[in-house]
Amino acid sequence: MTLLAVPLLVHDPAKTLADAARAAEFGADLVEYRLDPYEGDPAGLARLVDRSPLPCLVTCRAGWEGGTTDRPEADRLERLRAACSGSRRPAYLDVELAAYQRDPAFRDGVRALVDGDGPGLILSSHDFKTRPPTLYQALEAMIDDPYCRVIKLAWFARSLRDNLEAFEILRQDYKPAIALCMGEFGLPSRVLAKKFGALLTFAALDRASGTAPGQPTLAEMKSLYRWDAQRESTRVYGVIGYPVGHSMSPPVHNAGFTAADYDGIYLPMPIPPEYEHFKATVGAWLDAEWFGFRGASVTIPHKENLLRFVRDRGGEIEPLSVQIGAANTLTVEEGGQLRALNSDYAAVLDSVCDALSIPRDALAGKRVAVLGAGGAARAVVAGFAGHGAAVVVYNRTIERARELADAFNGRTGNVAAAALDRAGDSCCDVIVNCTPIGMHPHVDATPMPAELVKHWGPGTVVFDTIYNPIETRLLREARAAGCVTIPGFEMFVRQAATQFEAWTGQPAPLDRFRDTLRTRLSAS
Ligand code: NAP
Repeated sequence: MTLLAVPLLVHDPAKTLADAARAAEFGADLVEYRLDPYEGDPAGLARLVDRSPLPCLVTCRAGWEGGTTDRPEADRLERLRAACSGSRRPAYLDVELAAYQRDPAFRDGVRALVDGDGPGLILSSHDFKTRPPTLYQALEAMIDDPYCRVIKLAWFARSLRDNLEAFEILRQDYKPAIALCMGEFGLPSRVLAKKFGALLTFAALDRASGTAPGQPTLAEMKSLYRWDAQRESTRVYGVIGYPVGHSMSPPVHNAGFTAADYDGIYLPMPIPPEYEHFKATVGAWLDAEWFGFRGASVTIPHKENLLRFVRDRGGEIEPLSVQIGAANTLTVEEGGQLRALNSDYAAVLDSVCDALSIPRDALAGKRVAVLGAGGAARAVVAGFAGHGAAVVVYNRTIERARELADAFNGRTGNVAAAALDRAGDSCCDVIVNCTPIGMHPHVDATPMPAELVKHWGPGTVVFDTIYNPIETRLLREARAAGCVTIPGFEMFVRQAATQFEAWTGQPAPLDRFRDTLRTRLSAS
């Protein structure tokens, strides 16, 4: 069983014990007492271990390895001794491999503490800058040391690919091990530690108390990343983009997996711009079949890269995605076959059809105004034009509007282009805002002046692709004018539902998606 460990810096043992009790209450299995900041009476450390509400791991981390003390090895050993001198033993003792190797007195002292029925010895090596060139030398030394019960290797990930190396170390099963990557690219190694059989992973008690870059909180591990549901067989999904730190997709999809009792975990997957990064990372994840990578939502700046990648690998691309020139969903079948599709246009079409209570076929002949000519607009134009609607693209940069119109005009519907400031002239059944005007925090902005919106009558559908805020100024004014309004919230939920169904083969729990997104947006 992989333990969920909460690290606690010990300044005041009474406060640390209260924090440890909170960690126990929130479902941690172990606490790490970091003795390095402690300046008090050594007897306080024995009492801390004796009264610990959870089994504990004790560390006195040196400053040169990411800790907070510059005391010499002999002093650090004294503190470890003090922590082991009570009536209960810590479960584990963590010391730096470098100090253990270079200082015979420190090594002998540590060995004396862990000998017999003493705590299990964790030998550890950390690099807070990069993946160290000496990683495998450190690993071998830990494997060879007869006293070392647990290997711990932690380094700052250079890209998502570093996580695979951490999982490889765990998979080799030399000894019980902890292999963690730090920083924004290291999250998979922390969250998926259980899938790959690590001894433990660390989770901060709260946002303010993390001890390493990229460490998630206990609450995130438990509720956002489905810690308790994770198994060896768990399939891995995520949102690929850059940046993806604020994406709403992880909470929405993980809530969906929980509602459907589906064996999957969904993670943020930051991949820097440029095709080479996308190809190298996604390629490596697919080639490591044991990793269990089964699909992804793909967002800016990689939507075009997804098409190229799936084409290069001989996968299948949905025809409308080819016309749009971008896809946002990757599905990896059991045999490794790849599929790319675009779930954005379907989300918009289905939201509008539901609001008007019409089938998709009845969109033929409808007049649609699309504001904006970027990636979202392209999917919306392709969807409506592909179903026979007459579309006008209004954009600030008229050349981009023309380019988009030319790409789809005459395929099935008519597509024309005009300047954004002419949008008020339009006489349409459906208006779709695909610009970011009105998006949080610029919530007072609108792509259409209120006096023009007033003339749109009941029966006109106004769709804003923006999902934060849920009701934009454009939608508020359109609702006041009697229009049917649809928030981008609905587009987000439905495009996520199409992805969920493509991955799981099950109907998406739409209400759970809506509740989760609403809760997240109101907290943001
Ligand atoms: P994009 O490719 O960058 O395109 C942005 C478009 O908006 C361009 O046509 C741009 O005009 C126009 N624009 C930007 N700022 C403007 C301004 N101040 N005044 C006038 N026009 C402006 O972005 P995108 O990916 O298409 O995304 C657009 C919107 O769709 C975003 O608000 C996003 O939140 C939303 N979206 C929502 C969902 C969802 O699930 N709800 C999914 C995808 C996108 P120029 O060509 O002149 O630069």
